Amino acid sequence: MNIQFANLQAQYQSYKSEVDSAIQHVLDSAHFIMGPEVGDLERALSEFTGAHAITCANGTDALMIALTAIGVGSGDEVITTPFTFIATAEMIALIGARPVFVDISESDFNIDVSKIEDAITSKTKAIIPVSLYGQPSDMDSINKIAAYHGIKVIEDAAQSFGATYKGKRSCNLSELATTSFFPAKPLGCYGDGGAIFTQSGELAEKIKSLRNHGQIKRYYHKYIGVNSRLDTIQAAILNVKLKYFEEEIKARQIIADRYTSLLKDKVKTPTVLPERTSVWAQYTIRVKDRDAVQKKLQEKGIPTAVHYPRPLHLQEAFAFCGGKQGDFPVSESLAFEVMSIPMSAYLTQEEQTYICKHIC
Ligand SMILES: *Cc1c(COP(=O)(O)O)cnc(C)c1O
Repeated sequence: MNIQFANLQAQYQSYKSEVDSAIQHVLDSAHFIMGPEVGDLERALSEFTGAHAITCANGTDALMIALTAIGVGSGDEVITTPFTFIATAEMIALIGARPVFVDISESDFNIDVSKIEDAITSKTKAIIPVSLYGQPSDMDSINKIAAYHGIKVIEDAAQSFGATYKGKRSCNLSELATTSFFPAKPLGCYGDGGAIFTQSGELAEKIKSLRNHGQIKRYYHKYIGVNSRLDTIQAAILNVKLKYFEEEIKARQIIADRYTSLLKDKVKTPTVLPERTSVWAQYTIRVKDRDAVQKKLQEKGIPTAVHYPRPLHLQEAFAFCGGKQGDFPVSESLAFEVMSIPMSAYLTQEEQTYICKHIC
């Protein structure tokens, strides 16, 4: 067997005629920048999540724009975890602030809420909880801590678009949130894409302006902003894919449950905590002898990936933060053990059985 890790080809084939005609429509209209499909998508994203939605060029820019919108900058501190994709902490540093890491919890691989308060100082401006692998953090507790200390919360929902917490959608669980439409994310486009979400109408207006050169009217600029618009073609693709997204989420959840029942006696399988759902951006297990397991699976035509092999406090780019081995033991031990296995709405039962047979 030759199994695909995310099977984007199968996904395209199933929506091909609609996607092709949506792209063709943009080509014919030649409305490549901020065409009507962008506004249509923002309305649909807003309806889906319940928050204001502003699209942008990618999930990394989305973080940078969200931080800029609340005025984070030089001398400020922003709390996040070291067990995430680099973009989360990278954007904090890029805008001149300092990432302050807090370890994750073993139960959901998300920020350990009980350790947040110890990291708050007079310089803390925001907390960025990451909804890792598709499952939101305990957002009510995080919002409560943030409100008490007068700081903002930005959910990095790059992996969790479509997930829920207490019946509410990820991206509408705090004042601000960001997501990514990178092809392999739960809702992906066919290139780069992203969005910022906010519960505040005032911030929504500012963010809309920031992602387009701080413009409020053509050639009238209120803020120093960036060019981070979502291409019309990508918006057109997402408008098609969003219609089928709930079905894809259900399929992913069924596949994840089946993985868990087939693997739970062999390896440590992931858990979804009460009152939450995951969209399973990754199905990530823990194994002791990871290199050997990966190699064996590779030989059987089963691709795997490691999210993430080195926590951010031990990355060269963050040496200026002074992190050292032993600072965040949970992140460090997981970095040695985690392994993601193929996950997509198109994974067949036969493929799944084959994968599970070879994991031991
Ligand atoms: C993918 C990802 C991002 C960045 O998104 P891009 O669209 O690739 O820029 C940020 N944070 C997390 C947690 C991610 O997984």
